[in-house]
Amino acid sequence: MATVEFREASRIFDTMSRPAVNRINLDIADGEFLVLVGPSGCGKSTTLRMLAGLEPVDQGQILIDGVDVTDKRARDRDCAMVFQSYALYPNMTARQNMSFALENARMPKAQITEKVAAAAKMLELEDLLDRKPAKMSGGQRQRIAMGRAIVRDPKVFCMDEPLSNLDAKLRVTTRSQIATLQRRLGVTTVYVTHDQTEAMTMGDRVCVLKDGEIQQVDRPTFLYEHPANTFVAGFIGSPAITLIENVEVSGSRAVMGEGHRMELGMDPVLASRTPGRVIVGIRPEGWEVLSEDDGSTVPLRVDLIEELGSESFAYCTPLMTADSPVTVRNSRVTVRAGKRQKLSVGETIHVRPGPDEASFF
Ligand code: ATP
Repeated sequence: MATVEFREASRIFDTMSRPAVNRINLDIADGEFLVLVGPSGCGKSTTLRMLAGLEPVDQGQILIDGVDVTDKRARDRDCAMVFQSYALYPNMTARQNMSFALENARMPKAQITEKVAAAAKMLELEDLLDRKPAKMSGGQRQRIAMGRAIVRDPKVFCMDEPLSNLDAKLRVTTRSQIATLQRRLGVTTVYVTHDQTEAMTMGDRVCVLKDGEIQQVDRPTFLYEHPANTFVAGFIGSPAITLIENVEVSGSRAVMGEGHRMELGMDPVLASRTPGRVIVGIRPEGWEVLSEDDGSTVPLRVDLIEELGSESFAYCTPLMTADSPVTVRNSRVTVRAGKRQKLSVGETIHVRPGPDEASFF
């Protein structure tokens, strides 16, 4: 087990006009499960590969357990990598795949047998040990890849989208298995995904990256409730937050047009400190739906309703007056409807944010 520190760490490719990873500072605690998340090309895999020693660090340093490993070779870093492709040897059985690195390290045979048996038990792989990868399901291959990492007793697990080749249902069950296993083993883990739900459900903390730079690192709920900027607000949460731009706050209300103000449900002290025009962010569950306008709501036309069983989401177009100074990003407001709230497509609803539901940027 170990701590991990990135200090002003950068990776620069000649093919890019900006660094792929740009002066990253990140402290990961001993035993922590840290998820790197962000859109395609934001530098997640490169960051992970720099830690594992598979990609050089062009500027800055990386420390594992306080030791500078920046110039150490991958095999001397004690990081076990789990790849999206699993990278299993096709001509070897599961047992041989799991034993391979230990044999190379000249571990005594009895000890290898013991370690492989323990990992196989933990991952419920005992019946598969003599099978080759071609004769296994995707989920089974994924578990062998995990087993291969576990038997090494590494200081750090580096996982690069290990679930992306599994179908949706298996992904959900496997993600909780990996999270449980990680907590049981207590091995510091850095996990890359582009899937924000995976990040939010698995990580002790989530690090959101964009264009090679860290946007925010926090616990999942904090990230959801207090996004540092509109990028994080928009990336975390599904369906996405509604962002209303160019809002002038007056009292505790947002000026939506001549003589029309939407109640923001915000603390008056905070309102008085909100300067100039701001962007207001409201999550789908943050809206209160009223049957008619009472002078504090905005009207929306319901375009689509997504019924998920336990809840439903209405995707709506804002019906702002022509003189309204505000714009709604993507011209779409998403509202979660309560169980007993029956909305229908085409109807006009009146909404306002509930108390403390609005974020300001
Ligand atoms: P994805 O989710 O699509 O895998 P990512 O966030 O993991 O994306 P990286 O693979 O880290 O992103 O890539 C970051 C940037 O660096 C991208 O613009 C990518 O094209 C570039 N890049 C990655 N590897 C190389 C390389 N070997 N040579 C040149 N550019 C590279």
